[in-house]
Amino acid sequence: MTTTHASRLLAWYDRHRRTLPWRAAAGETGDPYRVWLSEIMLQQTTVATVGDYFRRFVERWPTVEALAAAPLDEVLSAWAGLGYYARARNLHACAQAVATEHGGRFPSDEAALLALPGIGAYTAAAIAAIAFDRPASAVDGNVERVIARLYAIDTPLPDAKPEIRARAATLVPPERAGDYAQAMMDLGATVCTPRGPRCVICPLMAGCRGRRLGVAEELPRRAPRAEKPTRRGLAFVLARKDGAILLRKRPPRGLLGGMDEVPSSAWREGLLVPEEAMQAAPVPARWSILDGLVRHTFTHFHLELTVARAVATTGRLAELAPGTSWCTIDRLTERALPTVMRKVIAHAHR
Ligand code: SF4
Repeated sequence: MTTTHASRLLAWYDRHRRTLPWRAAAGETGDPYRVWLSEIMLQQTTVATVGDYFRRFVERWPTVEALAAAPLDEVLSAWAGLGYYARARNLHACAQAVATEHGGRFPSDEAALLALPGIGAYTAAAIAAIAFDRPASAVDGNVERVIARLYAIDTPLPDAKPEIRARAATLVPPERAGDYAQAMMDLGATVCTPRGPRCVICPLMAGCRGRRLGVAEELPRRAPRAEKPTRRGLAFVLARKDGAILLRKRPPRGLLGGMDEVPSSAWREGLLVPEEAMQAAPVPARWSILDGLVRHTFTHFHLELTVARAVATTGRLAELAPGTSWCTIDRLTERALPTVMRKVIAHAHR
């Protein structure tokens, strides 16, 4: 049965594989650098979004050594818009580790890959399989869905994870493990989709218990999630007469670490008290609070920022808060500004 699933899936993959910028041609093994880069970019980001970023990265840094030698600021700025910036810092740290500790070659076994910065169990298995054809079992959200349906696993996630992993591992074929891993990804993305799985064209239809029992679309079940809290803050957009904006760098660790931002008050749960938040203003100025809010959602909380705007007068430039600097509008795209900060700046220029 096990071999049947894998061989059906591989036969389907040979006919329907997606063409993706980082994917090797049929019959070829993937380049570890490209496989790794794409897998890191694809964590929590869609294939459609990643395409352009991936092309720009490999054009600018065609090898892992080139990426390792790039200044972190440049990497963060090229990453801006992909979100989850800890991944970009880890990406750079990982490139440096591969360049210095592994002679510029990615290790091929899962344990050594797992020891590298930013590489978790899924990514280690995906690289081992796709770039080195090792029979590693890469289980991400897509694969979890396919396996939960295939075996009609009724236990809600996350409790179902051990069972799903165990089932998934038994399916990996000893040969063409890289193609198999990519076939599972393609199946999850194009056929066994979260809503409306297209069972009639699925190569695994004959052996799929979820489909037979008529429960496929309901699977995997999930334990109810705790509500995300909402934090609020006041962001300060200070513009010079020539339009340049005051930016500061966030601390290197933690949320959006090392990225640029406009200054803001602390982001806290509870209602925003503007008079109190105003004390965090980077300089004394005639601040006007703008109508509307900038909303953004992070992994663990929603953020609502009120935006205050002011024009800096030359006399006050000497009073700038430490760690801040001016950035002209035409150079904003070169800065490592996270999406939420781009929204704040856009809001101030409406
Ligand atoms: Fe998913 Fe349907 Fe295929 Fe089962 S038959 S794996 S539910 S698409």
